Amino acid sequence: MKPGIYNDNFKKINKNIMETKNTKAFGTEALNVPLHAMNIKRRALQPHDVEMKILFCGICHSDLHQIKNEFGHTMFPIVPGHEIVGRVTKIGDHVKSFKVGDLSGVGCIVDSCGKCEYCEDNLEQFCDEGVTFSFNSPDKYLGGATYGGFSETYVCNEKYVVHIQETLDLASAAPLLCAGITVYSPLKHWQAGPGKMVGILGIGGLGHVAIKIAKAMGAHVVVFTTSPSKVEDAKRLGADEAVLSTDAEQMKQYVRKMHLILDTVSAKHDVNTYLNLLKPDGSVVLVGLPPEPLEIGAFNVVSGRHSFSGSNIGGIAETQEMLDFCAKHNITADIELINVQQINEAFVRLQKGDVKYRFVIDMASL
Ligand code: NAP
Ligand code: ZN
Ligand code: ZN
Repeated sequence: MKPGIYNDNFKKINKNIMETKNTKAFGTEALNVPLHAMNIKRRALQPHDVEMKILFCGICHSDLHQIKNEFGHTMFPIVPGHEIVGRVTKIGDHVKSFKVGDLSGVGCIVDSCGKCEYCEDNLEQFCDEGVTFSFNSPDKYLGGATYGGFSETYVCNEKYVVHIQETLDLASAAPLLCAGITVYSPLKHWQAGPGKMVGILGIGGLGHVAIKIAKAMGAHVVVFTTSPSKVEDAKRLGADEAVLSTDAEQMKQYVRKMHLILDTVSAKHDVNTYLNLLKPDGSVVLVGLPPEPLEIGAFNVVSGRHSFSGSNIGGIAETQEMLDFCAKHNITADIELINVQQINEAFVRLQKGDVKYRFVIDMASL
């Protein structure tokens, strides 16, 4: 965000804001301090705002990167959580698309300029002024940082809220709000579908949903995992083939075979190995966010006109489209439901890759 904009907006908007009553949340004030119960403020309802009671919130590896300040821009105190499913409890006077009692979802984006070419094209994730994320972003209304979904309620403009189908299992649907859209958007953009060999690299929260979505799009899905226990499980999740990526012999069989590889790995890894698995004109698309830079060998891209690219979540309209697609194909995440009091233990296990495949918090435990 450009310097000055935040303060200007804050002055303009803030004079009409009365802080709401305290809201219960789970967060932390500092690095290496375990998350614990705290109180936060939610803004008073604006004319276009929706207030929801949060029912379930997923735990994404991005929450973990942020509480560990691995990207170097964490604003403490922090309340993570951006895979939010709730039920609308109040609506502002001008709200058109929600009524009290509706199911509602909030993902990563809760505001953008609304008028740049990208916002007009429903690509809010590329907004010229930068988006406001659901947590750890400058809060234009209350100052400080936005607080995420590890909390009792969420308040935001209806434009950034999506509808959740009543037919979905709500706890298992929560991870679709970030993991779902983050993999759906590139799979669609790079045309995963019939006749395409699509690799999914890293079978965690994002990767396991990617297997299901790519399969439903009609692609031939090949999983690349470092975890022997996930090789078998990949087939249950819908993969056509599963490869233990630490086994050089198995990997050799996939050289020049893949049209597209979606890379969801959260830590530093060798992407050249995967560029070598591409057919000519194939792409490795990174959605994982290893904090360290990745190295690319020139010959790994120039040979075969390979592309190495990336993708960042997706716009709000596409998030709704993804939810409708998942409802139609009966796709949700495989989850381990926890109480909020187990959150620190869950983060330790997520760090070790010890979850099949997404922790979701039952917010009733707050
Ligand atoms: P996750 O559940 O922890 O899964 C990551 C998977 O990566 C692990 O299960 C593991 O899969 C693999 N992995 C981890 N460390 C590895 C290593 N050192 N070498 C090789 N493979 C390793 O994480 P997630 O929630 O799916 O998120 C994945 C990444 O995407 C994170 O960096 C997150 O911040 C990022 N993300 C990006 C966006 C975006 O918009 N671009 C949105 C959401 C999340 P195997 O056991 O199968 O090897
Ligand atoms: Zn996420
Ligand atoms: Zn914009």
